[in-house]
Amino acid sequence: MALIGAFKRLLGDTAVLTREQDLAGITEDWRGRFRAPALCAVLPANTEQVASIVRLCVENGTPVLPQGGNTSLCGGATPSELSKPPVIILLTRMRRIRSIDPVNNTMVVDAGCVLATIQETAAAADRLYPVSLGAEGSCQIGGNIATNAGGTGVLRYGNTRDNVLGLEVVLPDGSIWDGLSALRKNNTGYDLKHLFIGSEGTLGIITGAVLKLHPLPKAEAVAWLAVDDPQRALDMLGLFQAACSSRLSAFELMNARQIELVLEKVPGRRCPVERIDTWHVLVELSDTGNAEQLAATMQAVLERALEDGVISDGVVAASEAQRKAMWLVRHSVSEANKKAGVGLTSDTAVPVSAVPSFIEGAMAAVHAIVPDLPFVIVGHMGDGNIHLIPFFTFAEWDALGDRDAVAQRIRRAMNDVASSLRGTFSAEHGVGRTLTGEMSRYKPPVELTLMRAVKQAFDPKDLFNPGRVLPSPSIATSHR
Ligand code: FAD
Repeated sequence: MALIGAFKRLLGDTAVLTREQDLAGITEDWRGRFRAPALCAVLPANTEQVASIVRLCVENGTPVLPQGGNTSLCGGATPSELSKPPVIILLTRMRRIRSIDPVNNTMVVDAGCVLATIQETAAAADRLYPVSLGAEGSCQIGGNIATNAGGTGVLRYGNTRDNVLGLEVVLPDGSIWDGLSALRKNNTGYDLKHLFIGSEGTLGIITGAVLKLHPLPKAEAVAWLAVDDPQRALDMLGLFQAACSSRLSAFELMNARQIELVLEKVPGRRCPVERIDTWHVLVELSDTGNAEQLAATMQAVLERALEDGVISDGVVAASEAQRKAMWLVRHSVSEANKKAGVGLTSDTAVPVSAVPSFIEGAMAAVHAIVPDLPFVIVGHMGDGNIHLIPFFTFAEWDALGDRDAVAQRIRRAMNDVASSLRGTFSAEHGVGRTLTGEMSRYKPPVELTLMRAVKQAFDPKDLFNPGRVLPSPSIATSHR
């Protein structure tokens, strides 16, 4: 086909993938729930090549789908069933750390850099890039920016949006916007980078970014706590905030079923506390200063919490190996859940103070539909983002009726409770394809109209990730 031939002339034969076996892992999402054909996948080596690919696609009226590490949890990175299959643009060859400036505390990177590489490069320069998540070994910074990824460090450092200073983007007309500003102050009109952050590939392809770096913590204290219920976890968060203020860098909540699944499904993981049948909190303090002082603060807070009955047990990591082992349990949750069955992952956030009532209310709302349905619960409690995951096998799902309809009813029940608490149905994963229906339900019409106007201004032909983020009447939304 002419378009494929043009790509081969531009990039060379090996950078254009058309064979079924080469496309298999690219056209299916991380959880193996969505799969649809693509015309081909292309691997540009630089920004100019991305721009040329986009121009060829636009001339040809072919949809464009940028893909990073393909770790999206809302079906955002793989094709929909479009009448014209898209060209998938992979940024895997664009992995250059362009520069690092330790005085300005910034790093300029290609969008295809893997998040873990960015963290390691920053650490080697005695700096911290603070966004951290379970998929950091494979997700790319371009994907993180496109989804405004959150993760475990949001409590202290904010989400990806708070850690990006500038962007380079290939726009849907094939032009290149060089917005690689490393400034911390720049009030010259609309701040366009914020439109691209979280736009999930619907407005352009991010090819480069200027990232904000922070001082590298020299001391870390990590503890695993057992608490009777989410209210006590919230009380514990209050104690840490009072004693540690900004030194509190992570506060993660998990229920007993989540820990059981990690232990069952991921070899080599151990529960740090004796009792599994309880709620679990992973807490991290970090500081650029004195390690003994930090450990003493952790100890003092935990002693007080034990005395007051806020926690029933607690273990402080005594070595770097123990600290890593605790984090490995936390970072294994998605892998364990994927292996275990069907989790209808929700990505809700509510004000932190409302987390206990949200969990109680959302579970009750789901149980009104399917009594006794088990829940896996894991969340970044410190920033109010709770993933409530009603859990069953495919056979149990089928017994409840049409899969999509069941999934939608259950998700809606949870999202309605979040909305009643002025929360959101998508805190960090994005809207992708699974949640476009929720946009119509929860976003005010004025906001949707403005978003459509932005999309129209950037991508009038609707070729960039059509059917993602904004509900599209022409594309069916699958709820899984
Ligand atoms: P992809 O999945 O490839 O793409 C995601 C979206 O971004 C798609 O719409 C795609 O078209 C678009 N896109 C990708 N690259 C570009 C680009 N260069 N320009 C424009 N658009 C682009 N997310 C969190 O926020 N917090 C977590 O704690 C978290 N934990 C996770 C744990 C595991 C084990 C897994 C598998 C996923 C987790 N996620 C989490 C979800 C996922 O990792 C994030 O959404 C991540 O930011 C996606 O990055 P990616 O490179 O894989 O992007």
